[in-house]
Amino acid sequence: MFNFLKEKLKGAFEKITKKVEASAEEKKEEPKIEKPVEEKPKEEKEEEKIEIREEKKGVFAKLKEKITTTKISEEKFNELFWDLELAMLENNVAVEIIEKIKADLKDKLVDKPLKRGEVVKIVKESLKETLDGLFVEKIDVLSKIKSKKPFVICFFGVNGSGKTTTIAKFANMLQENGLKCVLAAADTFRAAAIDQLEEHANKLKVKLIKHDYGSDPAAICFDAVKHAEAKGLDVVLIDTAGRMHSNKNLLDEMKKIIKVAKPDLKIFVGESITGNDVVTQSASFNETVGIDGIILTKSDIDEKGGAIISISYTTGKPILYLGVGQEYKDLKEFSPEILLKAIGL
Ligand code: GDP
Repeated sequence: MFNFLKEKLKGAFEKITKKVEASAEEKKEEPKIEKPVEEKPKEEKEEEKIEIREEKKGVFAKLKEKITTTKISEEKFNELFWDLELAMLENNVAVEIIEKIKADLKDKLVDKPLKRGEVVKIVKESLKETLDGLFVEKIDVLSKIKSKKPFVICFFGVNGSGKTTTIAKFANMLQENGLKCVLAAADTFRAAAIDQLEEHANKLKVKLIKHDYGSDPAAICFDAVKHAEAKGLDVVLIDTAGRMHSNKNLLDEMKKIIKVAKPDLKIFVGESITGNDVVTQSASFNETVGIDGIILTKSDIDEKGGAIISISYTTGKPILYLGVGQEYKDLKEFSPEILLKAIGL
């Protein structure tokens, strides 16, 4: 998970350390400080000797301080930040976030007296703090679900993003928490989508509401909610058509589903590995249906992590869960620590 990003950051930190060391070496060569000439009077009192020694210590301590502390100018900072910037660009971190990281770091580094050995520590701490602050506070999904019956959840996202698998994982998680659900196969555009969801429903032993291929998805949602009400089920999970977010008819279809099903939670499901694409998709779905939260799938095979870093800040919505594999158990509640730990911060 996010190994490429981790390695790139490590490389950037090493380069920053070297550059700070190199600039200190240059400075060290500049001033030639003459060692004070000691004139020892022959008949010196013991007390006076001690005073002289203390004065000498003061001079050398100051000299040592000069060598071990440094001040970073704005120009030098831009040079130092470049390695970090490059590491993040290579890992699909959104430009606005890189700018934020840079501004936060600049506040802490430029024109401040710093201990040379602590520059990278400050960079790491600042990066950690900024990244941590990028995530919108998450919703306690299970408590929210328990607050209303039936609780209706709509899942949105493009084909192949792992939406069907995520719905199955979600149903499994609900079962583990003692909650009963029904699935609604409201992606009627692809016959395969209905079959795929049915396969999961059978494995999980949950009821699936389906109509024929090509039928009205809103009618399926209506039936699924009625079924949950009649059977006293806790949750309705709706699978929607997962085609491109730019298709106008589909967007209208989604709006109709929302009107009929009145979902309590609208979740965007996207692939972590697509980087900036998934960030754009989520913004587009948010504009159309107003999403409440995000699930990023395939984060187990995502080496870069740019989408995770960028998506919450860009959409203003929380990441609720991460898909971390293909099994039902592979749905992990999101917390910023997962990211920070994986990239070594
Ligand atoms: P849909 O078209 O959006 O419904 O996507 P599917 O649910 O059919 O998933 C597409 C492929 O991605 C399948 O092979 C899934 O097993 C796989 N997949 C889904 N979620 C994850 C995940 O979190 N990690 C990994 N490694 N694969 C996943």
